[in-house]
Formats: sequence, structure tokens, C-alpha cells
Amino acid sequence: MITAIRLHVQGVVQGVGFRPFVYSLATELGLTGTVGNSPRGVVIDLEGEDLSLAEFATVLRVRQPPLARIDSVECVPAQACGRAGFRIVDTDTTTAGRTLAPPDVATCDDCLREMADPGNRRYRHPFITCTNCGPRFTIIEELPYDRAATTMHGFRMCSECAAEYADPRNRRFHAQPIACPQCGPTLTFVDTDADAAAVPVNGENAVHRAREFLRDGKIVAVKGIGGYHLACDARNESAVQELRARKRRRGKPLAVMVRDINGAYAVGRVNETQSRALTECSRPIVLVDKASKYDLAPSVAPGIPDIGIMLAYNPIQNLLLGLPGDAAGPTALVMTSANLGGEPILFRGTDLERVSALADSVLTHDRPIRVPCDDSVQRVVDGRRVMLRRSRGYAPLPIELPLDVAPILAVGADLKNTFVIADGTSAWPSQHIGDMGDVAVLDGFTAARTHFESITGVTPSQVVCDEHPRYHSSAWARRHAAGRPVRTVGHHHAHIAAVMGENGCDGSEPVIGMAFDGTGYGADGAVWGGEMLLATYKGFRRLAHLGYVALPGGDAGVERPYRMAMSHLRSAGIGWDSELPPVAACSARERSVLGHQLETGFGCVETSSMGRLFDAVAALAGVRQSVEYEAQAAIEFEGISRGIDCGSEYYVFGEREDAGGSWIADPGPVIRSVVDDLRNGVSAGVIGARFHESVARLVVTWAQAARAAAGVDDVALSGGVFQNPLLLARARVLLSDAGFRPLTHHELPPNDGGLAYGQVLVGSSR
Ligand code: ZN
Ligand code: ZN
Ligand code: FE
Repeated sequence: MITAIRLHVQGVVQGVGFRPFVYSLATELGLTGTVGNSPRGVVIDLEGEDLSLAEFATVLRVRQPPLARIDSVECVPAQACGRAGFRIVDTDTTTAGRTLAPPDVATCDDCLREMADPGNRRYRHPFITCTNCGPRFTIIEELPYDRAATTMHGFRMCSECAAEYADPRNRRFHAQPIACPQCGPTLTFVDTDADAAAVPVNGENAVHRAREFLRDGKIVAVKGIGGYHLACDARNESAVQELRARKRRRGKPLAVMVRDINGAYAVGRVNETQSRALTECSRPIVLVDKASKYDLAPSVAPGIPDIGIMLAYNPIQNLLLGLPGDAAGPTALVMTSANLGGEPILFRGTDLERVSALADSVLTHDRPIRVPCDDSVQRVVDGRRVMLRRSRGYAPLPIELPLDVAPILAVGADLKNTFVIADGTSAWPSQHIGDMGDVAVLDGFTAARTHFESITGVTPSQVVCDEHPRYHSSAWARRHAAGRPVRTVGHHHAHIAAVMGENGCDGSEPVIGMAFDGTGYGADGAVWGGEMLLATYKGFRRLAHLGYVALPGGDAGVERPYRMAMSHLRSAGIGWDSELPPVAACSARERSVLGHQLETGFGCVETSSMGRLFDAVAALAGVRQSVEYEAQAAIEFEGISRGIDCGSEYYVFGEREDAGGSWIADPGPVIRSVVDDLRNGVSAGVIGARFHESVARLVVTWAQAARAAAGVDDVALSGGVFQNPLLLARARVLLSDAGFRPLTHHELPPNDGGLAYGQVLVGSSR
């Protein structure tokens, strides 16, 4: 019997080859009808035999194009009208609702093969793409996703491309960024040192010139998917140093790009999980241990055992690293966002001048980037992924919420800012925005918010922000509230809510939440950061925290860990013996000022920050007295402690109870034991291993006390301190051994980049 149905498919179904897939499936089954994009996703009208219709519905769910993700299929009966054949119809822009914009996708193997085939018309084409690969998020202006709604709208397809685009059997059928050497964007090389009259080099020669520059140790700015990178030969020390000087980036490790997974094996000890992460079509930077034969320039990743690697993810990068058979060139390139430290990544056509000032030459093109998007960063800890920065390749994919929420915007925190727009059970975390103290970053935030609202189709009716009275993000929320209610959420409550939500907790039962980070505004006005909360989404009780010590001079205390160490020494009742590394690092003058400050409390705030305790102990152990990037002392401390067995020896925190009945872990005894070890000649690595073990044990001790009091087994770990792989791994093992269920981050970063998602859950539950 002939029947008709209409299917609404929602999810990532536009720009991923979904309509051609539907076309071939329908024709294969002898069904007639149409398929089209709508703002709600994809609408399929089908007529045919019942059995074939049923088969269609089944196959649709099990066999999909590689990049598609179906969230729901709604099937309604329709009127059969005797249609002939199957057609892909024009986009219907009238239906209300929404669909999902896909993230940017690395060049696929089919395209790489064509690129390397001299007989193919896209041989060495720097803009080769198909329905399975290429830019998406960064070129989409609005939905529904069609060529006219992307930054490719200015390029008119040639007749050959147009024929491929229109042919349902072609793998470029409706591939919106389709292009070829005849009709696509143009690659251009500009030597910024040459005199102004020098003619830019276009096309194939542009790649040759850029490779020559790289080979000669020069810095080349390369326009990529989400902005410009600065590139140089990662084995050329003076080139890397020059790049650091121009970018004003001191010690912070740089990531390198290699052509393929074999290139990664040459510099990193890459295990199977890490290799899977590296080759994912999102192509994140993955932090791995340096290989034993590691031979990159010392300035690439100084002071740490890790190297951040990513594989080439667009055709230009593949050409730069050389296709098989090309003349030899650098096989590992430093690839870092083109910007000055603290500023957002440069991505506009009008940024060319600023990019030129940073590089010796520029490899650019005329396909506009709609929104900037930095590379994503992750690490694998005990076989499980930990996202450190969720950006290109992931944005704007949603993360599910365990609750139904009304349309809401959560603006996140001030450092590593990302925001979240959420509605129903979907939360869309933005790409990495940056540190909100910078004016250009704030502008970027505003622009990214507008773009996100247009591609998600959500108009938030409420806004949430951090409780911190001086956060730029919170001020932004109040400025842009436009009459909507603005709720504030406690920093550490949001951290715990984020990890609960990611693990599917519906919030009906409380969890034990360990929120360990550097800085967060506490309800009592102190700087919190070593907290145990008993939390649901609605509220929390602070069960325990690290004992307060003075944080002298705000930022100065963060940038110079020796000051934090001296504050901890004083608080532990240990004299400032100039044999101790932090004391030695402090001039006599500064010592007397600091002593006065700590005595009177002038210019000091109280802090329970675990991040600062890591800084202080790292400084005591002699690892580092002042830092060039955030958390450098703690990161290097972890690095030298990794792999060292401290046996059963660790330091024990003191125990107290405050007036309000919450437990206080006094770091004084730990500081005293560290100083004893130091005086007994124990190495920094062993002190580090013991200290990491101590903090992991503290987590379990606290959790056991909370379980005894509240009968809860779920222990949620969040906050920037849990990016520390040694601590995270050890805490997870010890908690499991003690019968707890550890909840940790995987899709969202444990740092403040994951905060907005937690703000959504708390803000929606009040
Ligand atoms: Zn492709
Ligand atoms: Zn063409
Ligand atoms: Fe935080």
C-alpha cells in the first residue's frame, strides 16, 4: 500500500552531506518525495510502500554521514499525492524552530588523496573541501546553512563546480564551501619586509615562497580556519625565540603542528587513546609526553615534560608541511595564534597590517572568517580525555543538560572566558573567548554572543553571571541585560554544577563537590579556591575549606609565588630563613614591606586557594619563584614530580573546625614538613610527589567525613587545579578505592572555561 509520511530530523544535519544521503537512500528504496533544510533541521516528505518506508526510518538511524548527529526524528502521517521521483528542494525558511550548525572539520582523506593526484582538477588546491570536511562554524553567518549564508557567498561557482554541487551522486553535492582553482578563493603570499611596490605572489608559488621562508628560519603568518597563526620551524631555536619576542610570550609552551600521526610519533610518546584524539576530525592540540628522541628547539616547551601536538587540519597547512614527494622542509612547525599576549586572535582582512607587524611574511587568502576560533586543547589522563580548552572543532556543538531550562545566557568568568547559551536540554558553549580584562576580548565577546544567538536561534530571557563584584563579565551582563533578570552564581558552586551536569546528575540528590582552583570570589568576601561543598543545583553548604592565609598584594602574589610561600611560612610559624629559596628570592627591602603587610593585613586578602598553595610549595621546593604564565610554578612542579614514587610518605594537613562548624584543613603542618624535607636534602621531585599525594589524600579524607555526615557517595572534582594530571589521576584512584563514585570533567574544561555551563544549571534552578 502506498502511504506518505513527513519526517522532521533534528541535530547536526546541515552542512554534513545529510540531504544527499537521504536522496540516495530514498532512491535506493524506490521512494518518492523531497528533502529540504529548514530552520528546524531537515524535512523529508516520502511516499511509497509501507515496508520501504519502515526500512528508510530504520536505516536513517543506523547509517548516517560521518559528521551527522541525529538528536531526534519526528514522524507524522501525510497525504499521499502521487509524487514522481525524489528531489532535493530549496530551503524552507518559514518553519519555526532550530537546527544545529556543524563545527569546522579537518580535511578528509578523500580530499587529501585528490589534492595529491596530479590528474585531479583540484591537485594542490588550497581550498579543497567536500560534504565531509572543511570550514563550517567559522564561515556560517546564519542558519539555515546554505552557501548564501556563508562567507563563500561572494564566490561564484564555475560551471564544473556548479555541476558537482547539483549532482546528488557527487560527494560535493550541496557542499557549501565547494571551490576549485577556477572559481575559489585565492592564496596570496606577501613578503612584509620587501618594499611596498613588491607584487604579492598568488597560487602555487605562494606556498613555495612560504616554505622557503620557513626553511630559512623566518616567521610566516598563515591564515587558517579560525584566524591567523604564526608559524616557524619548531627545530630552529633562534626562530622560536624571535617568535616569542614578537608575540611577547615568554615561557608559556607553544604547540607544534605536524602533517600526520607519524609526525606526532617523532616528537611525542603517543599512546593509542592519544593517537585517536589527535586524528579526530576536530584535530585538537593534544598534550603528550615528549618522546625520548625529542629534538625540537628548547624554547618550544621549556621546563615541562609535555609537548602540545596537533595534526594539519586544512589544505593550506598540508601544503605547508609538504605533500608526499615535495622537496624537504620543516616537518614540525610552531603554530600559535597570531596576536599579542592577552589579546584575541587576529582574523579579519583588516587585521593584515597587525599580522604583518608580527611576521616576516604572510600567507593569506580572500575567504573571510566570520568568527574567530582558537585551537582546542586536551590531554588524556588514565585513558580518558580531559578538555583543557574547548573551541575549534567543537564549537558550536551543544552539550546536553540534565534539566529543562528556559532560554538563558550564562556569561562565564573573566579568565579563559567562554559563555553558554541554553534552551530546553541543550547548552551551546561558545568558542574560547579569552581573558576579559582586554578591551578587544570584550568586543569579541559581544560579537560572538550575537553570532551564537543567530546560529542557535535562541533569544535568552534571563542572564547569569559570577558573584564577583568586579568581574568584567558580570559588568557586561548588567550592561546588556536590557530589562532581563540578571542572577549571580557563586564561582565554586558553578564549578561543581558544571561537573555534575556533564555527568548527567539531575540535582535531586546532593553531591560532595571538591572545587580547587586559583581564584574565585567567596560568599564571605575572601578568595576561595580550596573548598568542599555539599551541593545541588539549587544551593550548597560549605563543608570544608583550606585554612585562610593572607594573599599579599593580589596580582603580585600570583605572579611571584615566593610571596605566597613567605605568607604560608609566616602563617605556619616558620621564620624567614634566607636559606629557603623563596626567602632568598625576596630582596631585603621587599621582605620588610611584605612583613609589614602581613602583620597589618594592609593590601592583603584572605585566601583558601589550593592553586596558591601549589604555588607556595613549588616555590619552597625551589622550582620557581616568579611566573611568566598562569600556574607555571604548579605546572612545572607537577612535571618534575611525575613518575616519582613517594612510597607511603606524604604530608598531613592539620584539622580544625571553624565557628560555623565547617572543617578546616590547616596547611601549616604540610608547610613545616616540606621545610623539614628541604633541610634534610630531599629532592624537589620527591617533595612534589609527596605533596601531590597529600592533596589527593585530603580529598579522600574530606569525602569520608562528608559521607559520614551526609551519606553521599558521589564526589565531583572541578576547578583549574584538577587540570593537574598527577593529582586528578591519583584522586580518582583513591576515591574509587574508598568506594566513592568520582565525577570528573571530560567534554568541558575543569578550569573557568567550563564555568558558564554550571552557571546555567544553578541560575535555572533558583
Ligand atoms: Zn573532504
Ligand atoms: Zn570551480
Ligand atoms: Fe575557577
